[in-house]
Amino acid sequence: MIGTMARDAALEKLAGLLRERGPVVAFTGAGISAASGLSTFRAEDGIWARFPIEEYGTADAFRQHPERAWELFGAIEAELARARPNPAHEALASLEEMGIVEAVVTQNIDGLHRRAGSRNVIEYHGTAATGHCPACGRRFRREALPPYPPAPRCPECAAVVRPDVVLFGDPIPADAAAAAERALATAETVLVVGSTLEVMPASWLVLSASRRGARVAVVDPKPSASARRIADLVVATPAERALPELVRRLRDAGVS
Ligand SMILES: [Zn+2]
Repeated sequence: MIGTMARDAALEKLAGLLRERGPVVAFTGAGISAASGLSTFRAEDGIWARFPIEEYGTADAFRQHPERAWELFGAIEAELARARPNPAHEALASLEEMGIVEAVVTQNIDGLHRRAGSRNVIEYHGTAATGHCPACGRRFRREALPPYPPAPRCPECAAVVRPDVVLFGDPIPADAAAAAERALATAETVLVVGSTLEVMPASWLVLSASRRGARVAVVDPKPSASARRIADLVVATPAERALPELVRRLRDAGVS
């Protein structure tokens, strides 16, 4: 378990772990995007406080009242429109370029990893960048449809379009689930950034990697009890400070 290791020493240890125990897969949650101005969904002033899950955030809620569900999607889109990748997203893209991080599995739907330059991104909870028509199945890039409000409709059949995000009651998209399981099945180190590891089934991916023998490093200024329990190493520093520092140390050590 984790003592009160000095932050500097923890970062140094993490740098060593990433150099010595690959493949490395990053696993990210809402915390990595907090510095991009996105409130975490479960925060006191977060999305779920304003739009109760059972009324807005379930697959059933969308089927029954798609226009009302778009009040939620519209609020998310407004937040995303203001958000920019932060140094933590950029550092993960650098780690991929340096050949250290093999894939990023993210619980986030904000698209910030791709915008920061990460290439192998597995969006476990889907993405707000695309959508589909639940009536006729047609698929869309979000920007191809008019902005909210009102709720965007399918040009073919006029049904309200659904973003490709996982709502409560939805299965995980099959391709993302398979890709995430593949990536984590061979990971020797899992770099968890800004995830409480309390949302299932996403957290199960990290748990099973840990049980298989992968090392788990957690970067989070306030790691949850679940994250602390599973972690072999905790860096209790905000990711937007810790990850760029990590990149610097690895470069200083000759990794490029
Ligand atoms: Zn349609």
